Amino acid sequence: MSALNDLLAVQTTDIAISQAKHRLTHLQETIDRDSAKKSLSEIDAQIAVCDTEIVAANTEITKVDRLSHEHDDKLIKLNKQLKTVIAPREAEALQHEIAIVTTERSLLDDRELELMGVVETAELRKSELGPLQVSAKSSLASATMALSSVKQKIDAEIAALIEQRSAQALVVAPSLMSTYEAKRKHRPDGAVCRLTGPTCGSCHLDISQGEINSMRAMPVDEFPECPHCGSFIVF
Ligand SMILES: [Zn+2]
Repeated sequence: MSALNDLLAVQTTDIAISQAKHRLTHLQETIDRDSAKKSLSEIDAQIAVCDTEIVAANTEITKVDRLSHEHDDKLIKLNKQLKTVIAPREAEALQHEIAIVTTERSLLDDRELELMGVVETAELRKSELGPLQVSAKSSLASATMALSSVKQKIDAEIAALIEQRSAQALVVAPSLMSTYEAKRKHRPDGAVCRLTGPTCGSCHLDISQGEINSMRAMPVDEFPECPHCGSFIVF
């Protein structure tokens, strides 16, 4: 029956390995790192929006500038023409054209001011986001380090447990070990258990005193099993 005690030790280590692996995939540090990553990418996205707005506004400012110059040149030309014309009707037509170009020129100025306002607002927003981005980057770096450190610790813990498990398994007969592995597929934490009073530690059902007595009387090379769940019983 001491073979079952050895097997119980293997199971205890197997449970510890599963628990450590479960912890590894459910770390608060992973949640913290992911949330730091998300915060930073949100700030990055807002900065990218500002950059896009600035580039678009500056491109349009260049275009408006070019149009303004064209209008200025046109006005100079028209005013020169106006000085040379004699016919009142021709002068009137020129004055009308000058008025149109002047209005357009003034609209271009308005648009340029508007666009400069857009650039200014976006730059201001960017300057506000800058320090937030720095702090979000630093939070992400700390969270990444914290995660990697806790992962390393658990990985080392698992490696030590696996080593311990190999040593523990060495003393268990291979046939018993394969039966254990098969039982473990159905009851990962209860392929081997002790009784609590008459109660099976795996399925928590009561075993009759008669059955317990006959299990106790079994020869050493036979291994008692719970009549309900098939778990090996260690006395
Ligand atoms: Zn049972």
